[in-house]
Amino acid sequence: MERNRPTPIIDLDQARATGTVLTTPKAFNRRDFLTRTAAATVAIAASPLAIAGTDKFGRDRDWTGNDPITYPEPAFEVKDKRFSGRQGNATLQRIWHGMGNDASLWNEGPVWMGDWGCLLWSDIPNHRVLRWNEDDGHVSVFQTESGYSNGHSRDNQGRLIAMEHDTRRVRRREYDGTWTILADSFEGKKLNAPNDAATHADGSVWFTDPGYGILGPYEGHKAEFELPTRVYRIDGKTGKLSVISEGKIRRPNGLCFSPDFKKLYVVDTGATDGPYPADITVFDVNSSGTGVSNPKQFADFAPGFTDGIRCDTDGNVWCGWGWGGMDTNGVRVHAPDGTLLAFLHTPEVVANLCFGGTKRNRLFMTGSTSVYAIYVNAVGAALS
Ligand code: MG
Repeated sequence: MERNRPTPIIDLDQARATGTVLTTPKAFNRRDFLTRTAAATVAIAASPLAIAGTDKFGRDRDWTGNDPITYPEPAFEVKDKRFSGRQGNATLQRIWHGMGNDASLWNEGPVWMGDWGCLLWSDIPNHRVLRWNEDDGHVSVFQTESGYSNGHSRDNQGRLIAMEHDTRRVRRREYDGTWTILADSFEGKKLNAPNDAATHADGSVWFTDPGYGILGPYEGHKAEFELPTRVYRIDGKTGKLSVISEGKIRRPNGLCFSPDFKKLYVVDTGATDGPYPADITVFDVNSSGTGVSNPKQFADFAPGFTDGIRCDTDGNVWCGWGWGGMDTNGVRVHAPDGTLLAFLHTPEVVANLCFGGTKRNRLFMTGSTSVYAIYVNAVGAALS
């Protein structure tokens, strides 16, 4: 599939199919041109393909938004009739794709900052965090020297939490703009490279430490692992770090809680290392909120794998997806029992996602070099 192919004014395939024979404009006199263009316009009006391109999921549409898409949004592929997350009169938008010196290389870690009226996300290899303003769609650099941050989250006071690859730590941005280090080591050994975080109702911040940031210079720097790959919990009152999971998951990556905080979902991106799991494990969170038990496979994402995940208020799990070929690019939605409900197809790999907007019913997706958004008939469970 050609990406970003400009939608032709006259669709040649449709013109041929309807018997309208076109030659190059140079061969037309004015009367011919007007007559033939009018005939082609009739042919185009009879088929949505002339607008959306040739891909059934509309991935080859004109992403500038100049050409309309006929509702319902073709990017949704509903797999189970229980799925109610598609907003019938909303369409998938690419809200940002930087060009030239503004281009991003690899986007992750979106976080909705409703009180700031913006979305933040990481452009990891460019060592910066970008900001999309809700009011006018303007994109600017929020932060340079970001420590090659990856995932972002917010605590229960709304403060920004950043997971830094290069500096190998978890930081919190205070209301005055200063930063506080929440965790950078455990029992005297440096963390690997924290990746993603979620905040529990009790104020504790749970995060994953798969170590991608110390595998090479592109997203951090190469360094030896001093600790196993793990899921950690930072106590909200004492700041004490404790181990939640070790060994069960090869590369713990995205994570989120169920809306009632009784379950913890953790992604395994072990498939980046070879024939290892590409799934989500669901744990029961104990009643004190300090540990987990009873791990079970929630969903398998091979081919490809998921990375960032978020729950909606009905407990459905929305998962970025990709790396298994074009038809795995996008988002998968799973019911609380693990059943696959729907795909949302995008032209690029979606690593991470979050819900945003004042009603948290707009899904924002960091799609490789772009940011996509769509209003959905679902509401994000977490603050961001
Ligand atoms: Mg991640």
